[in-house]
Amino acid sequence: MSLSTKLVRLIRADGPMTVEAFMRLCLHDPEFGYYATRPRLGADGDFLTAPLVSQMFGELIGLWAVDAWTRLGRPAPFRLVEMGPGDGALMSDLMRAARVIPSFRASAELWLVETSGPLIARQRETLAAHGPRWAGSLAEVPAGAPLVLIANELLDCLPARQFVRTAAGWAERRVGLDAQAALTFGLSPAPSGFLPPRGLENLPPGSLVEASPAQEALGAELGARIAADGGVAVFIDYGRDRPEPGDTLQALRAHRKVDVLTSAGEADLTVHADFPAFAAAARAAGAATTAITGQGDFLRALGLDLRAQALADARPDQADVIARQRHRLTSPDEMGTLFKVVCVHQAGLEVAGFAD
Ligand code: SAH
Repeated sequence: MSLSTKLVRLIRADGPMTVEAFMRLCLHDPEFGYYATRPRLGADGDFLTAPLVSQMFGELIGLWAVDAWTRLGRPAPFRLVEMGPGDGALMSDLMRAARVIPSFRASAELWLVETSGPLIARQRETLAAHGPRWAGSLAEVPAGAPLVLIANELLDCLPARQFVRTAAGWAERRVGLDAQAALTFGLSPAPSGFLPPRGLENLPPGSLVEASPAQEALGAELGARIAADGGVAVFIDYGRDRPEPGDTLQALRAHRKVDVLTSAGEADLTVHADFPAFAAAARAAGAATTAITGQGDFLRALGLDLRAQALADARPDQADVIARQRHRLTSPDEMGTLFKVVCVHQAGLEVAGFAD
């Protein structure tokens, strides 16, 4: 059996499913889900992330984390948490950079929040030296100590629902079956009481909007946690910094966009991070947030240009490679503005890297 067969059976039994349910099965179905069975990160895999583009990314996040911990008053112990650590590259580079302040490492209790069995196995190898513990969700990381939390390309895995404005009102986009029993998109009436996301109330018919209960729930959980225990959390992802309509559901296989419906379980499937809704949920739960900032501006504020120069000075033969990596991470025609950064933090704290 394949995930497609399983989806057809589920839809026959229960009717068309929401895009949110479809995405969750594509990523996490225990038998066939992409992350549950065959995540492939890296140049010879399906997709590349910033820490895999360059070690500079994790190193700068490492210095950011040490700085944030210092501004928190160097709490000991504190929980150093990464959500969705992939193959462990970011945390490994972070820990190397953080060695400049040995008390950071000595005070950190390292937690990895991960749901993918194959990736936990990878992290067990790459991060063995740091004695990590694993949790299946943020709630499983014990409360009672401040957090320094990082997450790169995690929000885009948290599924969204999609709603379409029709002449007759709002409808929800669902995955159902066509006459040949192949997966197809369709519409059903939106649930009664449905309200479009704030700022998107007055769109013309045909417009599509997304809302991610899972992204907002994480924002709320984190906001409450930081309000109670103190700490900071930085989220980096491709996504929007203001309410915007549009279908962002995207499947990637071998670095190419592939059809969402025919690649179920065999490709990475993402939506854009909804930073405004995520940050608003964190604030409503009692934490503060920074402005939503472009990845390029954030990394430059943390000293990317200096770091790239130092690396190139040490390895002149690699200067071109390093220049290309820097371009990839920061240029507006690459990851520099499509990728955004927001920090959730305890009230009154200032954090590095943000214009405000
Ligand atoms: N941060 C890494 C990997 C990004 S891929 C990097 O930048 O390279 C997304 C990661 O999030 C994977 O590790 C995936 O298994 C994990 N993930 C996906 N859904 C998750 C969830 N609901 N909870 C925790 N981790 C999740």
